[in-house]
Amino acid sequence: MNSAPVRKIIHVDMDAFYASVEQRDNPDLRGRPLAVGGSAARGVVAAASYEARTFGVHSAMPSVTAKRKCPDLIFVPPRFDVYRQVSQQIREIFAEYTPLIEPLSLDEAYLDVTENLKGMEIATEIALEIRAKIKAVTGLNASAGISYNKFLAKMASDLNKPNGQAVITPKNGPGFVEALPVKKFHGVGPATAERMKRHGIETGLDLKTKSLAFLQQHFGKSGLYFYGIARGIDERQVRPDRIRKSVGAEDTFVEDIDDLERATLELQPLAAKVWRYCEAQDISGKTVTVKIKYSDFTQATRSRTAVQPVANVSEMIDIASVLLATVYPFKRPVRLLGLTLSSLTNDQFARDAEQPQLDLD
Ligand SMILES: [Mg+2]
Repeated sequence: MNSAPVRKIIHVDMDAFYASVEQRDNPDLRGRPLAVGGSAARGVVAAASYEARTFGVHSAMPSVTAKRKCPDLIFVPPRFDVYRQVSQQIREIFAEYTPLIEPLSLDEAYLDVTENLKGMEIATEIALEIRAKIKAVTGLNASAGISYNKFLAKMASDLNKPNGQAVITPKNGPGFVEALPVKKFHGVGPATAERMKRHGIETGLDLKTKSLAFLQQHFGKSGLYFYGIARGIDERQVRPDRIRKSVGAEDTFVEDIDDLERATLELQPLAAKVWRYCEAQDISGKTVTVKIKYSDFTQATRSRTAVQPVANVSEMIDIASVLLATVYPFKRPVRLLGLTLSSLTNDQFARDAEQPQLDLD
């Protein structure tokens, strides 16, 4: 199937990163349910400690919901300057092993160690060394997944979390995917999982029985990706120099929405996702665009460009809410909303014009 040598990819993921940094730096917070983020009415949880997760609190959850699930939840404002410093320390450790580092956020990265600077053969040993160094330098735990492509490395890093690692070999990759529920796939958010379920697709094995044409018809551009990963195949390269012109997220709803208030609420997790990426990359942007796709698949976009880059997630939500209100009353119920930030502050360095879509988990 593939004549190239088998790749060795490691996905490193810090455990409950922002929350762990806060607990590291403030002993009073250790062992307690903690959310990093704003507690205000429109606040969103940016990260939750493991103690908070046992109550069902997770990132991108509205703070109001989080407090309801865990009344003793402690909110701590984020300190992104500190997270960026730690992130830099981690990347310096990665760079001892390979220049092929693709950060996904401040606390997560893919490394291609097929050829590595230490001449080490065994990728699991590289992952062990990296995690030990991260612990020694930062005092924080990391987990790792080791496999022959990005998708499986990413899935593997969750298997023995926290503070663990797992390997998925070419021999057991296809079987691993077959047994995996599709809702756990990286790149399959709740809305996509629900649509797959309607077509009888609940596991990797179910997905594997569908033709490429079927998947492209029902899932558009993602169809080809799904077709590959159902077979344990993912040819995407680890790309160290990804510079983006825009950052966007979108979500298709299980039920179409015709109510402005509900639609406006749906902007919050989208904004949280976009903003999390921007914070991780230390960028912002001046142009906010809202995309509205209606039940008849026609769509509208509304943009506003500010003089200054957007300062925080609340400002992005405010601008997006105003833009959304300009198309209300909706001509049809809304099936999808998208939110994009562009005119990014890194534009002078931009080299390619790709427009990524972050999956909304
Ligand atoms: Mg993490």
